[in-house]
Amino acid sequence: MKSINKILIVGGGIGGMATAIHFAEAGITVDLIDLDPEWRVYGAGITITGPTLRAYKRLGLLDQIKAVGAVTNGTKLLHFSGALIQEMDEPLIEHGLPATGGILRPDLHAIMSARVRELGVSVRLGLTVNALDSDASGVDVRFSDGSIGRYDLVIGADGIYSKIRDMLFPQAVKPRFTGQSSWRILCDRPADFDRTEIYLGHRNLAGITACSPTQCYVFMLNIDPNRTWIKPEDFPETVRGLLADFGGNLAKIRDAVTAETSVVYRPLESALQLPPWHKGRVLLIGDAAHATTPHLASGAGIAVEDALVLREELAACDGDIEAGFAAFTNRRFERCKLVVDSSVAIGDAQIGHAPPDQIGMMMGKALHALFAEI
Ligand SMILES: Cc1cc2nc3c(=O)[nH]c(=O)nc-3n(C[C@H](O)[C@H](O)[C@H](O)COP(=O)(O)OP(=O)(O)OC[C@H]3O[C@@H](n4cnc5c(N)ncnc54)[C@H](O)[C@@H]3O)c2cc1C
Repeated sequence: MKSINKILIVGGGIGGMATAIHFAEAGITVDLIDLDPEWRVYGAGITITGPTLRAYKRLGLLDQIKAVGAVTNGTKLLHFSGALIQEMDEPLIEHGLPATGGILRPDLHAIMSARVRELGVSVRLGLTVNALDSDASGVDVRFSDGSIGRYDLVIGADGIYSKIRDMLFPQAVKPRFTGQSSWRILCDRPADFDRTEIYLGHRNLAGITACSPTQCYVFMLNIDPNRTWIKPEDFPETVRGLLADFGGNLAKIRDAVTAETSVVYRPLESALQLPPWHKGRVLLIGDAAHATTPHLASGAGIAVEDALVLREELAACDGDIEAGFAAFTNRRFERCKLVVDSSVAIGDAQIGHAPPDQIGMMMGKALHALFAEI
């Protein structure tokens, strides 16, 4: 990549780590910083759709994800009472690639962070950026510990509340609460659980995804216009109440929830930054540019795709970094907008009590569109 020798990545989440891996593999010196001194990630499961698996395959991590996580080609659609509506095989996006899967976030973080370190990326934790000064040949950076650095380019991968986004753009988008909350329960797989389960017909959309050879997680999206504040010690009892009407494996999992069960609650927000996504030699990627609600389970996938497309566009820009950033945004914006807008629209349809087949159609249409090459 002409005139790119050293880059800084701000934020060591999925997007930042994918970028670090992909650029370090190209022989570029990568510094990565993260605000969290312990570089933690919370203990929920995450769904990896077909396009996300495709992106991880290109990043070289598919086999590790398959070994530690879980993949499947099938899904069961059930009425919320537990009655089976339909079993279906998910369409395959690419020969040899599983249709869909799941993994524990800490396991995914362990796989990606191990690869980051193996490639010799310099990782500094408990650190952020306090000042950026981009000129024609590079970016001067002042870090929060008072140290300084100069880089050929800087990538802001610091998530939905991105500080880099606010530093670049006075009119930066602000995260917007969408009127729903997400609940996730981590548990052992029920004995007869053999494929993804999605429960329809209830105001709370719910499902079960395998995330390791022995574990699965329940996801549930409930309507929560007041963005209720709930004490963490009340999460287990609250989620049991929200799942009270459900049958099937969901009922078995609900009834086994105790005070010790891992239950994660999060009000949902979205934030789509309109182009440009760069200023000078500083670019936003991942949730910093296009944070979505989880209705299509695709936010992590499009963050990994960002890393792949960015390397291609910077390799093709003949040293004109800003042109490379513009070409990157041009290639990514409509696809990321599709994910954010469709996810929010599906949430709005749930809030408006749209019939389940309408919601299913909206999900199917958007997920199918994401099969397109990136
Ligand atoms: C409830 C919920 C469920 C989801 N489920 C799925 C799913 O099943 N499948 C899927 O594909 N996607 C899912 N997503 C979306 C997915 O989690 C995100 O899109 C993805 O994590 C974005 O990665 P990122 O690296 O851009 O940001 P993040 O993962 O948020 O990482 C940002 C990193 O930056 C660091 N940071 C923050 N501020 C600073 C700063 N100022 N300086 C330095 N570092 C900083 C943070 O510590 C963090 O490590 C879900 C999202 C939500 C909210």
